[in-house]
Formats: sequence, C-alpha cells, structure tokens
Amino acid sequence: MSETEKTTMAEPTVESVQCHVCSGGVMRRTSIKIYNLNLGIVLILGGLLCVGTGILTFFGLIALLIGIYFLSAKKGVWLCDKCGAIVDRL
Ligand SMILES: [Zn+2]
Repeated sequence: MSETEKTTMAEPTVESVQCHVCSGGVMRRTSIKIYNLNLGIVLILGGLLCVGTGILTFFGLIALLIGIYFLSAKKGVWLCDKCGAIVDRL
C-alpha cells in the first residue's frame, strides 16, 4: 500500500527579471555576503587572540565585533542563471 502522494510543489510566484547582460537568461532573487568571509574570520581570530592574551583587549573586542558584522552582513541581489551576472536589489 504505497501511495506516493505528490504534493504539488508550491512554486512561489517568484518575480523574475530578464538579464540585461546576456539578454537571454532569467535573473533570480538571492542574497550574497557583502564582505569577504576570510577577512571576517581573520578579524574574529585576531580579536580572540588579543582578548585571550590580555594584550590589546579593547582592540580585540572591536576586531571581534567587526568580524561578526562582516560574517553576518548580507544583501539581496539578482543572480542570472545563465551568465552569473549579479545586480544589486533595492
Ligand atoms: Zn545573464
């Protein structure tokens, strides 16, 4: 008695935009990190090191905060399926 009931894939009516770079692809909504992840990680590690060793504690805390911000900051963009162009979304 295996009745596979296919739930209709709720396809959200995603607004799509035609790509103006390759003028053939369709751009989809997505979000990307604003800042370089490696930079954020380096800042966090450096901050932890400074705080942990007790040297430059204040600087370490600031570096930590900036690093966390770098890792969490995102922005919405349009991404083209075809050519990979990225356009800022307002
Ligand atoms: Zn494109």
